[in-house]
Amino acid sequence: MVEKLKACKNCRRIIEGNICPVCKDSELTPHWKGFMIVINPEKSRLAQKLGISAPGKYAIRIGK
Ligand SMILES: [Zn+2]
Repeated sequence: MVEKLKACKNCRRIIEGNICPVCKDSELTPHWKGFMIVINPEKSRLAQKLGISAPGKYAIRIGK
């Protein structure tokens, strides 16, 4: 059984746990859709568009 992962509302990073390691924030949401893995944020147009600056796994859409 897979536990539903949460995404950070600030940086969209998908997180296992309760605090975003990037923002040091607990503003997480289980309501997100689609994800992408960013390896080279500086080379990814989509990452730049979404404001992603660190490699990782990110949600594409964040719910409210
Ligand atoms: Zn974050």
